[in-house]
Amino acid sequence: MDFDWSPEEKAFREEAAAYIQEHLTEGVVNEGCDATRYVDTPERRGFMRALADCGYLGVSWPEEYGGKGLPITYDYLLAEELAAAGAPQSGKGVGIIGQTLIRHGSDELKAEFLPKILRGEIEWAIGYSEPDAGSDLASLKLRATRDGEGWRLNGQKRFTTSAHFADWYWLAARTDPEAPKHRGITLFIVPMNDPGITVQEMRCIDGERTNEVFLDDVWVSDRYAVGEVNKGFNYVSEALDYERHTLFPYSMLPRMFEMFLEFVKTTQRDGVPLRDDPAVRRTVAELARDMEVARMNSIRVVDNMVHGLPATVPAAMNKVWWSELYQRLVNAVLEIVGPGAWLRRGSAHAPMEGFFQQLYRTMVIPAIGAGANEIQRTIIARRGLGLPNPI
Ligand SMILES: Cc1cc2nc3c(=O)[nH]c(=O)nc-3n(C[C@H](O)[C@H](O)[C@H](O)COP(=O)(O)OP(=O)(O)OC[C@H]3O[C@@H](n4cnc5c(N)ncnc54)[C@H](O)[C@@H]3O)c2cc1C
Repeated sequence: MDFDWSPEEKAFREEAAAYIQEHLTEGVVNEGCDATRYVDTPERRGFMRALADCGYLGVSWPEEYGGKGLPITYDYLLAEELAAAGAPQSGKGVGIIGQTLIRHGSDELKAEFLPKILRGEIEWAIGYSEPDAGSDLASLKLRATRDGEGWRLNGQKRFTTSAHFADWYWLAARTDPEAPKHRGITLFIVPMNDPGITVQEMRCIDGERTNEVFLDDVWVSDRYAVGEVNKGFNYVSEALDYERHTLFPYSMLPRMFEMFLEFVKTTQRDGVPLRDDPAVRRTVAELARDMEVARMNSIRVVDNMVHGLPATVPAAMNKVWWSELYQRLVNAVLEIVGPGAWLRRGSAHAPMEGFFQQLYRTMVIPAIGAGANEIQRTIIARRGLGLPNPI
């Protein structure tokens, strides 16, 4: 059994790491160490375009769509290197949307959007969740009614990250209210600058911005429906497997852990080095063990994808383990570091520059985003273990 990367994969990884270091500037690094932290700055767009210029975006896409036809492992390795460096992820356009368009989009949609995604030219917002449709996404109500050779959209979305700067909205709407709820949903692509779209800010506990979005008589042509009408829920489910993987790259965890480990190695409390404290040593060792499980989980998802096997259950396991290990790590750090750990970033005496105080406020989000962990557990129980639906 060989768990190591091939020489070609290692070479790609090393080249990518060097390229990222060369182009990464301070303003582009994710402060909160969180892949879901989507911000828009000229620097960030510039960084994405630099990745695009060197052909790093969409390397797993088929050559006919501008990719390099490499196994999806290479997208994974790039995502890992981006995460290790604290750089923004490219997963939303290249992964979630690009992969769905390649599999289900019309030739017209592919021709219009795939080249722009590969050139790093456009930003996307994803509009699935609504006030009464989060975990139970199939209950979404945003209505699309037939109007000429297109559809008229009316309703509300909630938690649309990036809506305040995105160029395009990847949105699920109800096209057939009479059909069973999973079978009456269609995916559309809508320009965010449509005058019928209003975006309202919602702030998270960590300061990150997400949005409420209101659509008032927004007309969208048939051309911008993705795949078949009323099959949108299937496409969204497929894309969510991808999201549960790409939004939680393993390499973000060692980035946090290494910082803590360095603190343990170099700090004394009451004249005694922390590294000599048996309770601290046990905590650090257990976290290191759990990190290895996280690494294996993430490789399992990509391995299933490479071999054309369903990735839903491994992706759910990856997401639950990753997000809860993140919480265990941050909680352990705050407990060991003590009250000083609550000093904010920028405070003169904050241990580890107040990094873990920021992470504490961020750590609730991964357990909710891309489908709450309770729902992931239901997926594991039902699809992985064959248990019946909960009553
Ligand atoms: C920062 C952030 C960014 C986000 N970005 C986006 C985005 O860009 N686009 C988008 O479409 N969505 C986005 N979301 C929405 C996210 O996907 C939803 O928050 C998530 O799916 C949960 O939905 P909800 O918030 O409505 O909670 P609810 O569905 O109301 O759930 C509330 C609680 O009840 C639990 N629960 C619900 N149903 C069950 C059940 N059947 N069994 C057991 N427990 C259950 C949940 O696990 C959760 O703990 C974002 C959310 C956050 C916090």
